[in-house]
Amino acid sequence: MLKVVKFGGSSMADAKQFEKVRNIILDDPARTVVIVSAAGKRFSGDHKLTDLLYLCHAHLQYGVSCDSVYEMICGRYIEVRDALGLKTDLESEFKALRERMAKGISQDELVSRGEYFSAMLMADYLGFTFLDAAKWLKFRLDGTVDTEKSYPALRELAAGKKVVIPGFYGAMPDGRIKTFSRGGSDISGALAAAALDADCYENWTDVSGILMADPRIVNGAIPIRSMTYSELRELSYLGAQVLHEQTILPVREKDIPLNIRNTNDPAHPGTIIREKFENEPNSNANFITGIAGKKNFTIVTLTRSGMSSQPGSLRKILQVFENYGVPISYAPSGIDCYSVVVETAAFDPCRYEVLAELEKEIHADKMKVIEEIAVVAVVGRKMVFRTGTSGKIFAKLGENGINIRMISQGPEELNIIIGVKNEDYEKAIQTLYSGFVEEEAEKK
Ligand code: ASP
Repeated sequence: MLKVVKFGGSSMADAKQFEKVRNIILDDPARTVVIVSAAGKRFSGDHKLTDLLYLCHAHLQYGVSCDSVYEMICGRYIEVRDALGLKTDLESEFKALRERMAKGISQDELVSRGEYFSAMLMADYLGFTFLDAAKWLKFRLDGTVDTEKSYPALRELAAGKKVVIPGFYGAMPDGRIKTFSRGGSDISGALAAAALDADCYENWTDVSGILMADPRIVNGAIPIRSMTYSELRELSYLGAQVLHEQTILPVREKDIPLNIRNTNDPAHPGTIIREKFENEPNSNANFITGIAGKKNFTIVTLTRSGMSSQPGSLRKILQVFENYGVPISYAPSGIDCYSVVVETAAFDPCRYEVLAELEKEIHADKMKVIEEIAVVAVVGRKMVFRTGTSGKIFAKLGENGINIRMISQGPEELNIIIGVKNEDYEKAIQTLYSGFVEEEAEKK
């Protein structure tokens, strides 16, 4: 049994968190490959180490002294080391880094040092081997990860060892350090799990899994126990943010279960994510997996009599949006009428060009633009087994005076999407949560 475990910034924030991480790792002998983030915030208003490193680089770039920021960075790690009574020689590491900075260090290399120092300290604390990510995680020239080189490299370097690996970065073919985008340690962990054919990828953070709804809108929203990768994609598309977007690909390819856990509540099982779940009871309560949503969409509706009988009409409409690089979120249709739902932020910069081109290409009888729409998705793989779900959604929203402006159901029956006015957004989510989660739980 092998578990690859990744600890995020809040789990690495200070000596107290390091101790929790050690207890978690030592509690299960299968947890032998550890990926760590840079130290995160210790309290609200504190700074993430990675942010300070970006700031440090900006100082260098503009020729402003970065001494005070650099001291803050070094101080955070020295504090952890000393509080844990470790002997890690950070001083020579900091001195060598300062010399690299004086010669002109790349932004990627400098910001990657947050994870590098975290991993050095954690390796020392656990008595595990420190394994530099640049030794195994190899990028191609186009910036994609070269799994054919990286996977065997990690298998060889980690064979028979217990290791701690910095997340967030790897090396380009010429050896230079390259980082992922922000939050990228999640991807490093997923790649390591895939490389080693792990039995599980545990992603430890500061929430007990993915919540059924945004806790800022639904007080006391409960965590999702199990979900599929497709459901995760649906929910994260509409803003449920827990993992870096590119995390799931490596583990999904190998059907490695992904378990989101809470370092501050290690007894909680968290959320488990897989391709599919065998022998699931079909009609139990909680047949809804989650509710997510986002504000600020625009709906463009074109109507022209006879349009649905003419091949190519929809293609022409979509082509216009493509020409301006506006991604289409949903495209509900009726007879002789097509709607396109787009994020307003993507549409705004080219709104008039798009509308002018649609006018020219489609010659619609009517072109209507509705603004300030919020999209809310009810997601659940078990909905397919239940009749009446959409009826219940509409009834609940209607009872609460929420007007539905758009309806769309994905062909896989994994979601039901509704568009409401921005101002009804929070109320829609609260209504659906209490109707589908709280009432169902009471029935149980
Ligand atoms: N430390 C990096 C960041 O703050 C990467 C990570 O934590 O995943 O974005």
